[in-house]
Amino acid sequence: MKILLLGQHGQVSRELQLLLNNPLRNVGEAAATQVVSEHELIVLGREQLDLADTGRIREAVRHLRPELIVNAAAHTAVDAAESEPDAAFAINATAPGVLAEEAADLDVPLIHYSTDYVFDGSNPAAYHEEDTPNPLGVYGRSKLAGEQAIAAVGGKHLILRTSWVYSLHGRNFLLTMQRLLQEREQLSVVADQIGAPTWAGSIAAATQQLIERWQTERTEAWGLYHFTARGETSWFGFAEAIAAQLRAQGKSVAHLTPITTSDYPTPAQRPLNSRLDGTRLERDWGVRLPKWQDGLLECLGNPR
Ligand code: NDP
Repeated sequence: MKILLLGQHGQVSRELQLLLNNPLRNVGEAAATQVVSEHELIVLGREQLDLADTGRIREAVRHLRPELIVNAAAHTAVDAAESEPDAAFAINATAPGVLAEEAADLDVPLIHYSTDYVFDGSNPAAYHEEDTPNPLGVYGRSKLAGEQAIAAVGGKHLILRTSWVYSLHGRNFLLTMQRLLQEREQLSVVADQIGAPTWAGSIAAATQQLIERWQTERTEAWGLYHFTARGETSWFGFAEAIAAQLRAQGKSVAHLTPITTSDYPTPAQRPLNSRLDGTRLERDWGVRLPKWQDGLLECLGNPR
């Protein structure tokens, strides 16, 4: 199948390239999946296609005529987005809407990622797909507008809301903690935001499973899904798990102290409850992501 992947150097995109370029190599729970198809993967990074240029998006899709589009590109700088809303909305809202229109014209599916930050975090339980979003910042508002633009087109689409993404590349909590835990003696980490740290490799493997389901079983349950690792923790709990792995390697690490969100002000407000319920994905597609602790171990055991 001819797949167009947008976003070249991003965390999720890198892991997708590893799996989709070589479908027989697989990770995590997806290893149980029978992978039957070969793909022709076309990857376009910002250098080849700036998503701020909607004319170029249309040109590229019409020229390449993919059978599936995966949009792993986004304006993900949550705090910077507060001072550059136009850029955030261009990449996270306008571009996905244009991609959805082009995908619908070709009658091919668009797989797109969204975020827990579409919610305000005031729900006492894990969020379901039908819960009302209320983003606290520009990033969340722009991602929600992207979801709405895709849904409004009404073509074949999967909007996959994930959370707290990390990998061994790019800028993320895992790499920051690994560095700071070894540089410092004392480290304070927010303990009152709850969510699911999700390895980009788990996202890629589950995405690959969805693609296979569609190809082989013609599953066509298009729409919005929650798509995070299972289980929950706080940023402090995640930091403790990262510290435990460093200690297991014989490294000495900083003493961790839990703090509250109000002790650590940031330009963009974050939801206190980021928990997303993944039941719908499992019911409709038979796909579920691993527990967050297993994702972390797999990520650390896969230095690629
Ligand atoms: P990354 O920030 O790692 O990668 C995003 C990619 O988008 C980068 O490669 C970047 O290119 C590219 N990009 C940004 N602007 C443009 C542009 N104008 N034109 C073309 N490409 C552009 O993202 P992740 O892999 O972490 O995130 C994947 C998805 O998951 C996104 O939809 C994100 O919103 C969502 N998500 C992420 C979370 C997280 O914690 N990271 C949490 C919840 C959801 P370049 O390398 O050139 O900058």
